[in-house]
Amino acid sequence: MKILKFGGTSVGSAERMHALAKLINNNAPKIVVLSAMSGTTNNLVEIANMLYAKENDKAKNLIDALENKYKDVIKQLYSTEAALKKGKELLDSHFDYLRSFTMDMFTINEERAILAQGELLSTALFHYYLEEIKIDSVLLPALNFMRIDENEEPDMKYIETNIKPELQKYPKANLFITQGYICRNAFGEIDNLKRGGSDYTATIVGAAIQSEEIQIWTDIDGMHNNDPRVVDKTHPIAELSFDEAAELAYFGAKILHPTCILPAQTKNIPVRLLNTMQPEAKGTVISSKTTGDSIKAVAAKDGITAINIKSGRMLLAYGFLRAVFEIFERYKTPIDMITTSEVAVSLTIDNTKNLEAIKKELEEFCSIKIDTDLTIVCIVGSFAAEKQGYAMRIFDALKNIPIRMISYGGSENNVSILVDSKLKKDTLIALNKGLF
Ligand code: ADP
Ligand code: ASP
Ligand code: MG
Repeated sequence: MKILKFGGTSVGSAERMHALAKLINNNAPKIVVLSAMSGTTNNLVEIANMLYAKENDKAKNLIDALENKYKDVIKQLYSTEAALKKGKELLDSHFDYLRSFTMDMFTINEERAILAQGELLSTALFHYYLEEIKIDSVLLPALNFMRIDENEEPDMKYIETNIKPELQKYPKANLFITQGYICRNAFGEIDNLKRGGSDYTATIVGAAIQSEEIQIWTDIDGMHNNDPRVVDKTHPIAELSFDEAAELAYFGAKILHPTCILPAQTKNIPVRLLNTMQPEAKGTVISSKTTGDSIKAVAAKDGITAINIKSGRMLLAYGFLRAVFEIFERYKTPIDMITTSEVAVSLTIDNTKNLEAIKKELEEFCSIKIDTDLTIVCIVGSFAAEKQGYAMRIFDALKNIPIRMISYGGSENNVSILVDSKLKKDTLIALNKGLF
């Protein structure tokens, strides 16, 4: 059984859904994971923000506008009265539900329930379309098996034991459709895998059923060597190792959810990145195969904060770093980059939710300086420690860019540098010129 995940643009209009039905219409057994139609989750985020701000009229207007958009979609999607009727009933129930929130108290639970509507809509609309054109499919409710634990990590045991009986209910079926992104949390409430999380659903489900291959279908022909939104003339990479792809995803290559490689890597399941607009393109294969020494790609992650921690006590002392790291651990704040000198340590974080509290605790034993609006640029490939020249090529390409921090040697797959976000574009362009 293969997993095929289709992103927002791949289901972004009636026309795209028609094309998608053709693309998946063969007898190969598969689970199709769908995102919300493109733009929908952004709209739902806006609606939730308006409801938080008690701007109920504004929220209602946006809900109405979104409903009208979907009404147009179903008119173009279906051609029989029966399917259109089902589509209308579906929209009524989801949009009445959305409107019901404008009357009640609004908390994070209501917000998450709102954010889940996009994937619930897209999967049901597509399932009804398959029904209309007489392609058998089973709609699997992701909320019955996708779950995260208290640490917001996928609860793999729960998922494995709960997805299997769902599939076994339909021994003859070979096409299952399910929602990406949405899940339940440790308390059984509706939750999600964070923005872009449908990729993560695909790899988690793939790992749970030991799938033979996970395909991520999107609007570009695979992982490119640089961010195509920022740099011209990028090109797709044919093969990446799991480690290389994981670094690129984590450090900002938007084509993949930041942590979606791990489940596939753990179960050694190849991940193929493919383009729905150009299905014959080769795309990128991500697997355990190592692909030789070379610089493969660069990616950038914005919204980084650097914390410089200085203390006389650090000189010749042990236990200092542990004291620092314990504070970050207590506030569940991951550290991305770290560099040290004899009397200071600099580190970066992207989650600043608890920064004030962290700062207070650090200031009890050291002096600190905080810089915001920074970007980590990550150069990914296989840089065997014994090979010469990689650092020189990278820093030669960056000779005109002021660099705030450098991290090299942590793994053989990654060189990271920290720059002011204003210099991100120049940095990516300079690396494109110098490295590829
Ligand atoms: P989907 O909605 O299908 O999940 P996304 O928008 O999340 O699609 O991801 C695809 C987009 O990622 C591409 O359109 C491209 O602009 C962007 N992207 C950023 N970095 C890269 C990269 N290195 N390679 C390919 N695409 C990238
Ligand atoms: N619909 C969700 C989002 O826009 C999940 C996804 O598309 O992967 O973030
Ligand atoms: Mg995505």
